[in-house]
Amino acid sequence: MKTITILGSTGSIGQNTVDLIARNADAFRVVALTGGRNIELLAKDAIRLRAEVAVTAFEEGLESLRTLLAGTGIEVAAGRAALLEAASRPADWVMSAIVGSAGLEPGLAALRHGGTLALANKESLVCAGPLLLAEAERHGATILPVDSEHSAIFQALAGEDMEAVERIIITASGGAFRDWPLEKLKTATVAEASAHPNWAMGQRITIDSASLFNKAMELIEAHEFFGVRPDQIEAVIHPESLIHSLVAFRDGAMMAHVGMPDMRHAIGYALNWPERHALPVAPLDLVKAGAMTFRDPDENRHPALRLAREVMQTGGLSGAIFNAAKERALDGFIAGEIGFLDMAGIVETVLEKMPAAAEGITLDRVLEADAEARRIAGGITQSVH
Ligand code: NAD
Ligand code: MG
Repeated sequence: MKTITILGSTGSIGQNTVDLIARNADAFRVVALTGGRNIELLAKDAIRLRAEVAVTAFEEGLESLRTLLAGTGIEVAAGRAALLEAASRPADWVMSAIVGSAGLEPGLAALRHGGTLALANKESLVCAGPLLLAEAERHGATILPVDSEHSAIFQALAGEDMEAVERIIITASGGAFRDWPLEKLKTATVAEASAHPNWAMGQRITIDSASLFNKAMELIEAHEFFGVRPDQIEAVIHPESLIHSLVAFRDGAMMAHVGMPDMRHAIGYALNWPERHALPVAPLDLVKAGAMTFRDPDENRHPALRLAREVMQTGGLSGAIFNAAKERALDGFIAGEIGFLDMAGIVETVLEKMPAAAEGITLDRVLEADAEARRIAGGITQSVH
C-alpha cells in the first residue's frame, strides 16, 4: 500500500489530490495532511482519508482542529515546526502543494526520507533549484513535476536523449487580461485579475497568470528542473490551453502534450508514475475543440518574462529575490496598496538593489535573501501607496 502525505491539502492542488486519493482510498494509507486557515476542510479530509496526523501551519488553529478531530484517533498539531515534522515523516509519495516560498522547507524535509516528491510548489525550484535537486540526489528521492506545463514536458521527454532537445516551448493561456489594452491594465482590480479564463486555481497563481509572473516562474522552473539553457526556453501564448507545452528536437520533430485543462491529469500522472492509470479527466474532443491558436507574448507588455530571463542568466540568489519580491508585491496588490502594473516595477527595483552573487546556494542564504527582498519590496509598496 502506498503511503501518502499532502502538504497544502486544503488548497486547489491539494483538493484535486484529495479527490484522486479518495476515489481509490484502499490503495493508499495517508500519513499527513497539512493546511492553513481552513480548519474545517482539513479536519473533514483527515477523517475522510483516515490520516495519521493533521497539521495546521498556524498555531491559532490548534484548538478548533483539536475539537473537530476529538475522538477520531487522528493526531493533531499546529505551527511551522509541526508542519516540518509532519513533512519529515516517511511516506512513499508527498505532494508539495503549499503556495509560495513557505513550501520550500517542508519540501526539503520530505526529500530527506527518499521516496517521491510530487512538486506543484514551483516557488521551491525558482528560489532554490540547485539545492532541491542536490538534496533529492543525496537522499535518493525522486522529484516529479506537477505544474501542467512541466508535467507535459516531462512526458514529452520520456525515453528521449536530452542531447537531442533543441527547444522547450511553454504554453501560456495569457490569463485574465490577455485581450486587454495595456492602458486598461493600470486600473485592473483584484477581482478582475482573479478570474482565470481556462483553469480553476488558487487566487495567487491566478493573479500571477494575469501578470504573466506565473509564466515567468515557469521559465525558471523549466531551466532549473530540466537543466536546459535559458535561450532554449520559450513562452508562447495559446489561449485555448489545450496544448500544455512542447519539446522541439533537433530532427525537426515537436512533441506536444494535448488534453483538457484539468490539474488532475498532471497530479494523477505523478501519482501513478511510471505507470499510466485511468483518471477522472474528460477526454479531449479535437473536432469540438476546433482551432488551436498561438501568438508571441509581447515582453514590453509583460516585463515579468524579461525579468525571468535576467534571473536565469544571473542565477545564484536572484531566483529567491525575484520570487520573494513578487510575493510581497502580490500581497500589496491584493491588499489594494498598489496597482496591477506596479508589481513588475517593484520586482525589478528589488532585483537591481540586491546582490545575487552565485557562490553556492544554501538554505540559510535563500531564507535571508527572501526576507530581505520582502522587506525592500514592502518599503517600495508603502512609498507607491
Ligand atoms: P492555494 O492557495 O489554493 O492553496 C495553498 C495551500 O497552502 C493551502 O492548503 C494553504 O492552507 C497552504 N498554505 C498557505 N500559506 C501557507 C503557509 N505559510 N504555510 C503552510 N501552508 C500554507 O494554492 P494552489 O493554487 O493550490 O497552489 C499551490 C502550489 O501549486 C503553488 O505553488 C502554485 O504555484 C502551484 N500550482 C498550482 C496550480 C493550480 O492549478 N492551482 C497549477 C500549477 C502549480
Ligand atoms: Mg503551470
